[in-house]
Amino acid sequence: MGETIKDLKRTHLCGEVSKGDNETKVTIMGWVQKRRDHGGVIFTDIRDRSGIIQVVFNPDAGEELFEKADSLRSEYVVAITGEVEPRPEGNINPELPTGEIEIKAEELRVLDAAETPPIQIEDNIDTGEDVRLKYRYLDLRRPKMTKLMGLRHQVTKTTRDFLDQKDFWEIETPILTKSSPEGARDYLVPSRVNQGQFFALPQSPQIFKQLLMVSGMERYFQIARCFRDEDLRANRQPEFTQIDMEMSFVNQEEVMEVTEGLMKELFAVGDIEVPAKIKRMTYQEAIDRFGSDKPDLRFGMELKNLSEVVKDSDFNIFSGTVSSGGQVKGINFKGGADSPRSTIDGFEEYVKMFKAKGLAWMALREDELKSPIAKFLAEEEIEAIKKVMNAEKGDLLLIVADKPSVAAAALGNLRLKIAKENNLIPAEVYKFVWIVDFPLFEYDETEDRLAALHHPFTAPAEADVEKLDSDPASVKSKAYDLVLNGEELGGGSIRINNHKLQEKVFSVLSISEEEQQEKFGYLLEAFDYGTPPHGGIAFGLDRLMMIIGRTDSIRDVIAFPKTQKATSPLTNAPSKVDKKQLQELGISIRS
Ligand code: ASP
Repeated sequence: MGETIKDLKRTHLCGEVSKGDNETKVTIMGWVQKRRDHGGVIFTDIRDRSGIIQVVFNPDAGEELFEKADSLRSEYVVAITGEVEPRPEGNINPELPTGEIEIKAEELRVLDAAETPPIQIEDNIDTGEDVRLKYRYLDLRRPKMTKLMGLRHQVTKTTRDFLDQKDFWEIETPILTKSSPEGARDYLVPSRVNQGQFFALPQSPQIFKQLLMVSGMERYFQIARCFRDEDLRANRQPEFTQIDMEMSFVNQEEVMEVTEGLMKELFAVGDIEVPAKIKRMTYQEAIDRFGSDKPDLRFGMELKNLSEVVKDSDFNIFSGTVSSGGQVKGINFKGGADSPRSTIDGFEEYVKMFKAKGLAWMALREDELKSPIAKFLAEEEIEAIKKVMNAEKGDLLLIVADKPSVAAAALGNLRLKIAKENNLIPAEVYKFVWIVDFPLFEYDETEDRLAALHHPFTAPAEADVEKLDSDPASVKSKAYDLVLNGEELGGGSIRINNHKLQEKVFSVLSISEEEQQEKFGYLLEAFDYGTPPHGGIAFGLDRLMMIIGRTDSIRDVIAFPKTQKATSPLTNAPSKVDKKQLQELGISIRS
């Protein structure tokens, strides 16, 4: 049993004690970071959420106190009273905010003892992540992690304050709900009361936030938990948090303006400057120049279109691709001409992952042009290719001839890979860009039908509405994405606010009338009772926190995250349940 703090009151947080408190008697409470015995003097570092301070126990403070101090071990929880004094010359630790002072202990209470922790409570440990997640409560004691949690609090608080000032109301929407189509698989929850029926956990509050606009709430926001049962790629979590917003009586410009204001304040928490007006780029331009709708603008190596200069070439792979509607495009890896063959072969393997048929290349070496395709090309064609690609001696030109979407994906990704591997991406540079004028639909090859590029509630551009019948693939939308350094921070759109138009879009998406009624009937019906024009946006808070917190794992910014396998080593969830529970739900498990 530990001692109590009954009559004792904490006067300072560890990290708050400062030089100004010299000769003051203070009481701190926290965990023992370390205990060192230096020839009869015991030093301990005491840690709480605010930081660390050194406490000294001198033998002259009394035998009893000294012996107690001697029994301290890492992670014991203690309360200490003593006088603040300057550290003796030579003992000053410039790395520590409290490094010039220490507390001379007069009283020590051990509030709780602790076993030796399975992970070290300090930054830069190399403990495996599974162990860190199993002992997450210890992992969170590490200063880096504690700081990230504090930073997250600051960001959510700033969000609330900013949006409150802009007249948004924070409104909660259900977790036990019906499927909301954001393109992922739903998490389902069986209903006991209505056996054989299921709730879906929301992939986003999309439909509810639109209904709130129909309700006249005007401006809504929520720091909303979303659930998507996807195969987890790096930095995805099955449950994640969005800053979700919706506004009535606005156009695209107004949503973007509020968003820019919010971003400015949120990134300020991480000392990152957001330009007053964020640059815009059309979807098409992003695809053409960077091969991606989330372009990383921190470096060049843009995709160049060579179709024009090779369309009449005798080299059939190039000319044939162009004549059948494809593109010949390339990127210039500056200074890459001397890359070994194995590296270039690696690039080819890589582009094949994006369905490219192959990778042509030209290495402009000091003394020769090395290229397996040069012999098939006329001298003028080679010169024209070099010109379009701004090539000079020392460069490696990498070329893909394929369907436009394949050429874009292959080279867009190769561009990123080369940049990362060759350190071409400058640190601490932040390039924000709005991507606008998205197509409303994209072609889903596996299903052989059009799918919504954002979600099915996105409004088509006014000028394109009549093309919904004649040429739906060419219809542009009123959607916008905010991209930073090649990552999508958030996305949204102006919505359809009309029953007929919504039905039309559903039907282009091959959603049968029956299915429309069954899945979205309640939204369509709501549209019949007076629906304001509205639009909104949602941001991935976790991704935002990774950038602001300058960490490269999404699991670092979530208190209790899941593993890549969507499990929790801490609670062992998901887990089996009792037969009785299953019976109540009317579920039997096939084994
Ligand atoms: N619901 C969308 C999403 O989760 C965002 C939006 O359209 O506001 O990505």
